[in-house]
Amino acid sequence: MANQCTHLDQIREVTPSANGCEDCLKTGDSWVHLRLCLTCGHVGCCDSSKNKHATKHFHATNHPIIQSFEPGEDWGWCYVDEIGLAFT
Ligand SMILES: [Zn+2]
Ligand SMILES: [Zn+2]
Ligand SMILES: [Zn+2]
Repeated sequence: MANQCTHLDQIREVTPSANGCEDCLKTGDSWVHLRLCLTCGHVGCCDSSKNKHATKHFHATNHPIIQSFEPGEDWGWCYVDEIGLAFT
């Protein structure tokens, strides 16, 4: 069992694409929490949100790592390894 993420080299200096879930903003939907893709800056909604755009973004692009886009939260998550990441 790998307990270390092997995708850290896919983290880029990203600029968040929007101030909310960019896909929900297009359709006028709401979300619960936001997640930021650390490869391209896509902002998507979490799995507690009905549209789960952050997970859909991973399936569409294979960008493995997201970070919480909630104020005061700095944890990350790798969808491939399914482990949490701590950013300091
Ligand atoms: Zn990983
Ligand atoms: Zn969304
Ligand atoms: Zn992405």
